[in-house]
Amino acid sequence: MTSPARQAPESASPATSTGGTHTLPPLPYPGSALEPVISEETLSFHHGKHHKTYVDTLNKLLAGTPFVNLALEEVILRTAGNEQHAAIFNNAAQAWNHAFYWHCLTPRGGDQVPAPLQAKIKSSFGDLAALKREFGKAAIEQFGSGWAWLVLDGSDLRVIKTSNGDDPLPKRLKPLLTIDVWEHAYYLDYQNRRADYVHAVLDKLINWEFAAGNLR
Ligand code: FE
Repeated sequence: MTSPARQAPESASPATSTGGTHTLPPLPYPGSALEPVISEETLSFHHGKHHKTYVDTLNKLLAGTPFVNLALEEVILRTAGNEQHAAIFNNAAQAWNHAFYWHCLTPRGGDQVPAPLQAKIKSSFGDLAALKREFGKAAIEQFGSGWAWLVLDGSDLRVIKTSNGDDPLPKRLKPLLTIDVWEHAYYLDYQNRRADYVHAVLDKLINWEFAAGNLR
């Protein structure tokens, strides 16, 4: 399973370090880069507090367990569905999901989709507008906290949603893109208007090159 760090552009730092200690990867752009869609204040809290807390909590929970020296993806795969390890799974998945999410966004977003991904979108959805409609619907309709994803399922693209910290890795689906729809992702900027956040992200911030790179 490919990590967000390996899927990310060269400038990205790894999501994990050696020695069994997971580290908070820096944002792949300045904190103000996504304004006005996502404010610097939101990014500062979201990355510096929420994401950091998942990483710090994970490190505490992993101490003394058989999972301590594993890569983040392995921790997720080995703890998924096991109630006894639910806290480790939730924090590991949230650490992974956020590291992945930062790379799904770019100030240079728009509708320029690299050709290989464009072909997949055409065969699975018809066109980009149809994909964006389905992706947006999943993000807006996810009940409570969670994530909307564009995934590769075999050779087809699919849109799915997951609750809380759950992610597509244990389902053996390959994530290409995600949108965080926990309230902490948008509440400072949009309050309860999740749909406005989702549509603004889809129209202005999606990193289609990152998504296309994840096809490999
Ligand atoms: Fe989040």
